[in-house]
Amino acid sequence: MVFCLIGPPGSGKDTQANILAQKYDVKVVSPGEVLREVVQKQGFLASKIESYTDQGKLVPDEIVDHAIRDYLEDLKPKNIVFTGFPRRVGQVKSLEGIVQDLGQKLVAVILMQIPDEIVADRISGRLYAPKADRFYHERYHKPRVPGVDDETGEPLIRRDDDTPEAARQRLEIHKETMPAVIEEFTKRGVLYRMEATGDVREVEAKIGRIMNKFLTPKN
Ligand code: AMP
Repeated sequence: MVFCLIGPPGSGKDTQANILAQKYDVKVVSPGEVLREVVQKQGFLASKIESYTDQGKLVPDEIVDHAIRDYLEDLKPKNIVFTGFPRRVGQVKSLEGIVQDLGQKLVAVILMQIPDEIVADRISGRLYAPKADRFYHERYHKPRVPGVDDETGEPLIRRDDDTPEAARQRLEIHKETMPAVIEEFTKRGVLYRMEATGDVREVEAKIGRIMNKFLTPKN
């Protein structure tokens, strides 16, 4: 089964996806992280990808499609949670192609909604553990030991594209591109809207109620 978590920057998609990976038998696929990995490894298209991500702009659909397919090639997971994908209506087709080629079924797209003023606040305090691909927040989701990841102990950094300008740009783009995406999934009857304004545990419980319709938690 395939699930998607979509929503504005700072809505908590990656944080919740990491929680889902612990609770259910799912593989999380974050195009943002997949693209960051290509850039880090200086892979094919690295500089082209960076020219978009650095400004908070969306990477062209065919590059995202290629990067995701490449990433999934050897994994063949039983269940997948995509985070931050699809972000543009052209990527809905791309998602459907990927799902079909994997012999899977798209069952739920969870739209995590938060008001604009919360977006800026969440992004400005965001901290990131690159190796673990885990996010924290200075005020709302603190690491156990300040400045380091809970599990790997690696130092936390600020992402290059978490500047106020890039964050604003990402929010603007989100507003432009998402209505068409939401419309497509509404037509297909797979869209679940939820308010993602509470703390991490509250949001986790709301998402859990949707996930439990399809999957049984591991324990
Ligand atoms: P994220 O980690 O989801 O915040 O994504 C970081 C950056 O990666 C975004 O600002 C985009 O430049 C790029 N990106 C992530 N997901 C997508 C996508 N589905 N389509 C195009 N670009 C994306």
